[in-house]
Amino acid sequence: MPDPHARPATLLCVSITAAAPPLAEQARRAIADGADLVELRVDCIEDVPAIADFLRRPDRPPAVLTVRSVAQGGRFDGTDAERIALLEQLGLLLPGYVDVELELWRRSANLRQKVRLVCDTEPESVASAGDQFTTRAHQGRPASIPAAAALRTQRPRNRLVLSHHDWRGTPVDLEAVLQAVCATPGSIGKAAFTAQDATDGLRVLAALAAQAPSPAGGLIAISMGTAGIASRILARKFGAFLSFAAAPAGEQAAAPGQLTAVQMQRLYRWREIDSATRVYGVVGWPVAHSRSPHVHNAAMRAAAVNGVYVPLPVRPQYERFCEFMNHVQVHPELDISGLSVTIPHKEHARRWLHDTGGSITAAADRAGAVNTLTRTADGWQGENTDGRGALAALLQRAGLATVRDLPIAILGAGGAARGLISTLVAAGGRVTIFNRTSERARELAAAFNCAARPWSERGEHGARLLVNCTALGMTPREDESPLPAAAHRGDVIVFDTVYSPPQTRLLREAATAGCLTISGVDMFLAQAAEQFSIWHGLPPPTGVMQAGFAADLV
Ligand code: NAP
Repeated sequence: MPDPHARPATLLCVSITAAAPPLAEQARRAIADGADLVELRVDCIEDVPAIADFLRRPDRPPAVLTVRSVAQGGRFDGTDAERIALLEQLGLLLPGYVDVELELWRRSANLRQKVRLVCDTEPESVASAGDQFTTRAHQGRPASIPAAAALRTQRPRNRLVLSHHDWRGTPVDLEAVLQAVCATPGSIGKAAFTAQDATDGLRVLAALAAQAPSPAGGLIAISMGTAGIASRILARKFGAFLSFAAAPAGEQAAAPGQLTAVQMQRLYRWREIDSATRVYGVVGWPVAHSRSPHVHNAAMRAAAVNGVYVPLPVRPQYERFCEFMNHVQVHPELDISGLSVTIPHKEHARRWLHDTGGSITAAADRAGAVNTLTRTADGWQGENTDGRGALAALLQRAGLATVRDLPIAILGAGGAARGLISTLVAAGGRVTIFNRTSERARELAAAFNCAARPWSERGEHGARLLVNCTALGMTPREDESPLPAAAHRGDVIVFDTVYSPPQTRLLREAATAGCLTISGVDMFLAQAAEQFSIWHGLPPPTGVMQAGFAADLV
C-alpha cells in the first residue's frame, strides 16, 4: 500500500551558469545526465536575450529562474528595481520556478506585488502543480517536452522559491531560518548554509527530516562546501523538494560542493535513494580524495543493498570527532549504519568507544586504532580491518600459506604500521621496525615484542618481506621513495601500503630489481571487502569493488 504521507521524490536540478555552450544544449545535456529541471543563474549567464529565447522554446525542461545578489553569494550587483524588472520580464515567460531572496521579499512590497503577478503563492493552486511534478518524478522520467507544455497549459504561473544563503556558517538556530523561508503559503523554502565539516551537514539533514511533509510547499536545505556534499546526496532520503548539481566538469559550479549530475546518478545512486536507504560513509580529514565511495557504492549496487556511501569530512581534533558521533547517536533517524574511519580519526574512534562504553574487538584495541564502526542493536562496535586486509592481500599475492617465522622489515611507526605490526606479530612474523623518529620505533617494538633499528640502516634490513607504512611516495609526494633504489634485492617481497598512486616509485624500482611487488590497492580492497561483509552480512563482490576503485567518474 502506498504511504499517503510519503513525500514526493526529490528532484535533481542542474545549475546553468554560463551562456556557452548554448542554453538549450546545456539543458539537453543536463536532462540526459539525469536531471529533472535546470536552474538558470541569470546573474552568471548575463545574456538576458539568450535566456528569454531559451524560455520561449517549447521543448525546454522546467527551469528555476535565479538572479542571485552579491550579498547572497551571486554576481548581481544592480538595484532592487533592476532585479525586480528582470524577474518580472523573464518570469512572464513561465520558467516554472522563480527564486526570490527572502531578504528582498521582506524588504520590498513592490517586489511582492510584481512577483505575485507571475507566481502562485496560494496553497490551493500550487497543490495541483505539485502533483504534476510529483507524478513525473515518481515515474523516473526526465522532464521533457510534454511536461514543459503541460506546465504552460495547466499551470498558468510559476512557483515561488524563497531563498536564504548563509556564507558564514551554519547557525545554532537553523530551524528558525527554515521556518522563515517556509512561512509564505504555497512557496518552496530554500536555505543554504556553509558547512565547516560533516557535523554541520548532518544538522541540516536532521532539520530537514524533522519538517512535516507538505503537499503545497516544500523545502530545499543544503550544506554548501565540500564538507556539505553528503547533504546534497542525502537530500533525497530526507524528502527535500530538490537538490542541485553542477553542469558537467569544465563548467563552473553554481555553489561550492556541487557534484555533477553524472556523479550524483552513477557514483551516489541518486535515483535509487529513498527513505529506507541506509547511510554509510568515510570519516576523516580530508576525505575528498578517498576511493571508498567508488568501491562501496558499486558493491552495494551489485549486491542489491539499499544503501549509499558518502564522504564525511570531520575536522582533525578528538572533540570534533566526538561532536560528530554524538550527533549521529542523537539522530538515529539519519540511519547512519556503518563508518569507515581514516586519518586522523582511527585512534580517536578507539578512544571514543572506550569513553562512551561502545564495544571494540581485541585486535583493534591491540592495534590502537579502529577503522570500522558499525551500528548494532547494542550500540556502536569498532574493529580494524586494515591489518587483516594487509595480511590477506599479502598471502594471496605472494602465494604464501603463512608469515610464521618470516623476517619482515616495517618502514614507519604511525597508525598503519601499528595495525600491520599487530597482525603480523600475532601471525608469527619476525618484525623489525625502521622509523625516522627512532623513539616511536622503539616504543612500538616494546609494545609488540619485536625489534627496532635506526632509520639509517633500512638499506641493510636483511628481511624477506619489506612493508612501507610511511607516507613517502603518496600523492603529492610521488617522486619520493622510503628506500634508495640501490638497496633493493631481487629475493625480497616489497609491499607498499600507499595506494595513491597505485604504482609508487618504491614498487617501480623494486620491480626493476626483480622483486615481487604488492600494491596498497590490494590492501585497500581487502580491508573494504571485510567492511562490506561486516556491515551487510554478505559475501563481498570483489570484482565489482576492484572495478569501482579504478572507475573514472567525471
Ligand atoms: P601516520 O600515522 O601519520 O604515520 C606516518 C609515518 O610516515 C610515520 O612513521 C612517519 O615517521 C613517516 N614519515 C612521514 N614523513 C616521512 C619522511 N619524510 N621521511 C621518513 N618517514 C616519514 O600515517 P599512517 O596512518 O600510518 O599512514 C601511513 C601510510 O599508510 C599512508 O601512506 C597511507 O596511505 C597508508 N595506508 C594505507 C592503507 C590501505 O588500505 N592501503 C590503509 C591505511 C594506511 P615519523 O614517526 O618520523 O613522523
